[in-house]
Amino acid sequence: MSEKKHIAILGSAGSIGTQTLDVVRGQRSHFEVEVLSTFNNADVLIRQAQEFTPNAVVIGDEKKYNYVREALSDLPVKVYAGEEALAQVVEMDDIDIVLTAMVGYSGLKPTLNAIRAGKQIALANKETLVVAGELVTRLAREKAVNIYPIDSEHSAIFQCMAGEWENPIEKIYLTASGGPFRGRDKAFLKSVRKEQALKHPNWDMGAKITIDSASLMNKGLEMIEARWLFNLQPDQIDVIVHPQSIIHSIVQFEDGSMKAQMGLPDMKLPIQYALAYPKRLKSDFPRFNFAEYPSLSFEKADTDTFRNLELAIHAMRQGGNKACILNAANEIAVEAFLKDQIGFLEMSEMIEACLEKISFIASPSYEDYVKTDTETRMLAKELLPV
Ligand code: MG
Repeated sequence: MSEKKHIAILGSAGSIGTQTLDVVRGQRSHFEVEVLSTFNNADVLIRQAQEFTPNAVVIGDEKKYNYVREALSDLPVKVYAGEEALAQVVEMDDIDIVLTAMVGYSGLKPTLNAIRAGKQIALANKETLVVAGELVTRLAREKAVNIYPIDSEHSAIFQCMAGEWENPIEKIYLTASGGPFRGRDKAFLKSVRKEQALKHPNWDMGAKITIDSASLMNKGLEMIEARWLFNLQPDQIDVIVHPQSIIHSIVQFEDGSMKAQMGLPDMKLPIQYALAYPKRLKSDFPRFNFAEYPSLSFEKADTDTFRNLELAIHAMRQGGNKACILNAANEIAVEAFLKDQIGFLEMSEMIEACLEKISFIASPSYEDYVKTDTETRMLAKELLPV
């Protein structure tokens, strides 16, 4: 009798994707890889398919289809290419849960497809909820699909909520490490380079999220993500800087009691929890040692210096397509910063200009989100220095 969960991993070549496969490698009796997909990292996809022999792989870039197919021709692995193929593959009957680990806005459509197909979601792509949280969570309710968070803060809240679903949340506190520039002022930030921003003190992650962590945009996106995941009002969500990244977030209930989840900063834990829920599987992940952390500290987030967090909070309060504008402008801004086209503080200026100029839509449809995303990207690119 097999009680294995069959998993599709979208974005398998990235940081979360590879850590998910680390988790699977350690829990072979619990998980089976059904589908692996990546946009264009063909060599990593091939290596992963050789090790895990999934039912199917999908390479996003159709030009790489033949290359992947030839490399896997000796194996019983179906090879597909392109966005349409990905939409169809997630519908496969054998899949129990779809783990979404693509970067940015590109995660929205495949996630919606997976929900439409009635698959449970393990969500690592926060931008999906930032851009279109209302639409995504409504569809998930209609399809009776659960969305299990992988983001460590949201996993923490989800873990604190176990056994508490009947009890209303009064407030949540998302913890933030503060990133590599915690305590710095604007004069310092003006001249920082990507090499400095890419050095996160506690977490080892992909480039986009590491820059977002340095600018505190990541925490702003997480506030919006939390709003939709836990059905909260904006004023029920707060951020507290906790530089050690041991307490991953806190729920405050209506009697004033607070529950927090803690552990070493290691994404494998929230990944495994999302996939194994409601079970906790025995693991050999490193254990927390109190002697190594004699004090855990907390401080207020500096939203004057880190404008991105303020912009995100404002967009969350305004609702409609504002968070979609915020996200699209931020994706262009981060890309430009990583290419040395703009400075660190100019990212906020670009996002703010887009939030002012793109038309507000109070109740956007899917098509409105697509249009908002496209228009914002065009405007943001026009704002780049030539
Ligand atoms: Mg996080």
